[in-house]
Amino acid sequence: MLITELDLNDKKVLVRVDFNVPVDKNLGVTDNTRIKSSKKTISYILENGGTCILISHMGRPKGYDEKQSLKNIVNEVGKVLNKEITFINDCIGDNTKRACKESKKGDVLLLENLRFYSGEEDGDLEFAKSLSELGDIYINDAFGTAHRNHASTGILPSFFQGCKAMGFLLSREVDAIETFLNNGQKPILSIIGGAKVSSKIGILNNLINVVDDIIIAGGMAYTFIKSMGGEIGNSLCEDEFLQQAKDILFLANRKNVNLHFPEDVIVSREISKTSPTEVASIYNIPTHMEGLDVGPKTLNKFSKIILRSNTILWNGPVGVFEIPNFQNGTKQIALAIAKATECGAFSLVGGGDSISAIKLFRMDDKFSYISTGGGAMLESIEGKVLPGIKSILN
Ligand code: AMP
Repeated sequence: MLITELDLNDKKVLVRVDFNVPVDKNLGVTDNTRIKSSKKTISYILENGGTCILISHMGRPKGYDEKQSLKNIVNEVGKVLNKEITFINDCIGDNTKRACKESKKGDVLLLENLRFYSGEEDGDLEFAKSLSELGDIYINDAFGTAHRNHASTGILPSFFQGCKAMGFLLSREVDAIETFLNNGQKPILSIIGGAKVSSKIGILNNLINVVDDIIIAGGMAYTFIKSMGGEIGNSLCEDEFLQQAKDILFLANRKNVNLHFPEDVIVSREISKTSPTEVASIYNIPTHMEGLDVGPKTLNKFSKIILRSNTILWNGPVGVFEIPNFQNGTKQIALAIAKATECGAFSLVGGGDSISAIKLFRMDDKFSYISTGGGAMLESIEGKVLPGIKSILN
């Protein structure tokens, strides 16, 4: 069900948001994207006569931890919503219940970090029941945690039969992934980068059933290259995944999916901004050198594949973009996808590091959709139904 199908007037609306925002050492919010992403849902509830009771987690605390208290972000939430926010220093219990009950139409309450209670991550029924007593309606707008079967995402919705729905952010995320998986216009391409093959095996196995082309780059490419007999020097490699890499090569070949690997790479003795770099063939990297970015020939080849694609999914940088001398590959890939998008392709970008990269390049408005959830997006593309979504639909 969509939020627009519910009568919110005079209702206490419990909204599970993902305000797990990064903070600096003075506890100031350094990136408010996640707060901004739920603004549409919160404003809609207020405009339609509801009270917003916001619940979220922050970090991975083991019990109460002042540094991970949501009181640290109250001002930022107020700034984004342009509204006074009432912070409640607990998320369950009599005081919280009273504060929610006494809140008025148009109020916004922010409750304390759900993860201060172990019941949240344990998916505890009693904890979920206590949360359920705070509102009349449940809205989930936290895509970033939709893959977790936690109390506030997987269990709490069962207390709101007929009065629960996805917020605008969650439904946009679901639509974007649906467009990619089921309605993508061919040729469909995915670009999978990042450090480790192990975390992307599931997504690669499902992508083979969906796409025409897969570009495999970044640190994870070297396990594949080694499995094909290449000399990868000191590059990142997960030897225990060599067989899985071979299986993916075999499966892609059987299903007529084109796998594309870098040809030339930027190599260096160490990951540092002062270490001299060279260009080498990815199949012949000198010992003591590691591949840290893709080279010019590869970028030329990858850009052509990107520009001829009509649907593009990008997850994971193609080099160590955090260090300026290994940043060019990821930047050029971002530019090529942006250009394809401008020419009409549908582009979906997700995964924490790809998002950090495009923010660094100030290109976060150049793609069709940027997913707010790394793990949640990966699991959706793997073909799993996420607990946080299943519990809304049931
Ligand atoms: P992931 O979380 O698996 O998507 O990996 C993201 C990380 O992969 C980023 O921090 C990149 O610096 C890193 N990365 C990308 N390419 C390489 C590479 N060739 N060697 C080592 N690390 C890499």
